Order: sequence, then structure tokens, then C-alpha cells
Amino acid sequence: MGIALSNAERLAPLEGRRPTVTTVCSHSSLQIFHGARTEGLPTIGIAIGKPPRFYDAFPRARPDRFLTVERHRNVPALAESLRAAGAVLIPHGSFVEYLGAEEFARIDVPVFGNRAVLGWESDRRKERTWLESAGVEMPKRYEEAAEVDGPVIVKYYGAKGGKGFFLAKNREALADFRPTGPYVIQEYVLGTRYYVHFFYSPLSDRGYRVGHGSLELLGMDRRDEANIDELYKLGAQEELLKAGIRPTFVVTGNVPVVLRESLLEKTFEVGARIVERSIELFGGMVGPFCVEGIMTEDLTFKVFEISTRIVAGTNLYVSGSPYSDMIEPGLSTGRRIAQELVRAQAQGRLAEVLS
Ligand code: AMP
Repeated sequence: MGIALSNAERLAPLEGRRPTVTTVCSHSSLQIFHGARTEGLPTIGIAIGKPPRFYDAFPRARPDRFLTVERHRNVPALAESLRAAGAVLIPHGSFVEYLGAEEFARIDVPVFGNRAVLGWESDRRKERTWLESAGVEMPKRYEEAAEVDGPVIVKYYGAKGGKGFFLAKNREALADFRPTGPYVIQEYVLGTRYYVHFFYSPLSDRGYRVGHGSLELLGMDRRDEANIDELYKLGAQEELLKAGIRPTFVVTGNVPVVLRESLLEKTFEVGARIVERSIELFGGMVGPFCVEGIMTEDLTFKVFEISTRIVAGTNLYVSGSPYSDMIEPGLSTGRRIAQELVRAQAQGRLAEVLS
């Protein structure tokens, strides 16, 4: 199924009405609905199977109404009724993951942000081209096992939640590795992980200026990853392996973190470079994105991944973060998305933030 409508045709139903913030009920949807409601926007929750029952427990985050489909892949079939409802789709991790980046990019409903970015994010090679050409430091990549000169992490393409990852302390340890599909070998970076929640607004003319707009820092988290995060209890990876347990990085939750204030300058520079390069490569990113990296002991920030949409770590900050509070009290990423929609509409600039 191809994309049938032009941008202008897709956006036409939004003329003169408040956009209906719409997303699939999971991941960060409670925060997205809560933010929309706070800014006075209507909401639709797309439920897979049936509406999650626990939504009843959060009256300020429950969408105004639900649309139910059996599977993610049935979402594009709702396009006509969603357009008629003035819907704007908000991409989040599981929405894009389960529908597929390509399918998502073809949905005939306005999407918040530049849908072209999803193709750059979901392909690890394209992502590396983007980030490296932006001048961002990344973990070294080895073309073959013989080149390995330190600890490495082997990632299968499309490995979800790090389930298909393999760690090797050195080249010798890699001898045991029997690949079961296409993979990349990456330097295993020793340091502290930070997942930095940015928001790029092409509409803003104040703050930390980047491109034609400005870059905001809304929060930061670290992920709890089972079972690797429990390694310290066993002492070493070998202990896990001796116990017959393969280390995995399946995310089970998030914890709040803040950076040393003196490291903020270089963190903003990394975010700014990524945005500037995205403008050159594919017309720019809009809205939330997360830079995922490791701060080494010599204070280099090595970026191993970027998520070009709201990440679940922002759920920590429904009522604001230590950073977003210095922009506006109680500002979550979900709320910031709704604000951008309201501002774009008031200024007649919806086409700049929707695709
Ligand atoms: P990813 O699928 O690339 O987001 O990686 C999943 C997890 O693996 C991350 O959250 C990190 O804990 C870990 N990880 C990924 N790449 C590296 C790396 N180059 N060095 C150390 N840890 C990494």
C-alpha cells in the first residue's frame, strides 16, 4: 500500500480545528495523552486487541476515546476515519517497531515530525552515516573479528531489546561466537550510559538556537536492562555464563539521572550537530529525539544509538524534569508535543511540524 495523498491533502482536515492527538496505547501513550489534555487538545487511543484496563486507573491520561484494531498492521486501515477526526499520529517506540518503520512512513494520516527520519533511524548503517558525518563520536566498528583489539559487543541487525547481543572481552573470546544472521561488531565502551531527551522546535525563535529553531533539553534517564544490570551481583559476565545465563539488555524500566553540569555544553553540541546534519540530509528532525551514549572516564560522549521520537524514559517526567522545570514548570515531553501542535496551528505553520 503506497502513500496516496499529498502532504497538503493529508493536512487539509486540520484546517481551523484543534488537532486530535492520536497514538497507539502503549510505551509513552499515557504521557502523550496527559500532555495533550493539559494543553486542551482532544485525544484518540488506538488499542491493539482491547483498551488496556489499567488506563481506567489514570483518569487524567485516559484518551477521550478508543479505536480498536486486532493488530498493529491494521492501523493503516483506520486512515480515513482518523483523518476525518482531525488526527495527528504521534510515533513512539512500540508503535513504529510493531507496525514497521516503512509501513509507518506510508500511513495516510498526518504524523508529528518528519516521517523521513524513521528510515534513517531504523537502518544502523544509515544511522552511522548520519551521526559520523555530523561529527559525533561513536563506538568503533570492526569490519571483521581479526581486527578486534579490546572488548566488543556484537549486535545482530534488528535485535530487539538487545536480546541478540553478544559480549566478548577480547578477540580470543570471540572465537566462540557462531553468527546466526547479519551482525555488526562494535567496541564495547566502558563508561556511564546516559539517554538524553531532546526536543527540536523549528518554530521557536528563542533559547539555544539551532537551524532555524531551537534545541531544548527536557530530561535524561538510564535504562534498567535485564539481566546485564544484575552483573555486579555475580561479579562478572563469566559468572552469568557459568550459571547458564546469556547476558541480555532487555529494557525493564528507567531511572532518572542528571549530568555533571560541566558536561552539558558538549551534550548540547552533540544534539545540535545531529539536528543540523538532519536538516542537510533529509529536511530535518522535528520534535522529540533521544541521544543514547556512554560518557567515558576521559569525558568523551560516545553515541551508540539515536531514537528519533519520544522515548519511554521520558515517562519519568510527566510532571517535569530537573531540566524541563527550568523551561516551564510541569513540562513533560508529551505536553511539549501538544504545545508545538497548538503553536504551529496558531501561526499557520502546521506543515512545518507535520508530515
Ligand atoms: P542498542 O540496541 O544499540 O540501543 O543497545 C542496547 C544496549 O546495549 C544499550 O542500552 C547499552 O546498554 C548496550 N550497548 C549498546 N552499544 C554499546 C557499546 N558500544 N558499548 C557498551 N554498551 C553498549
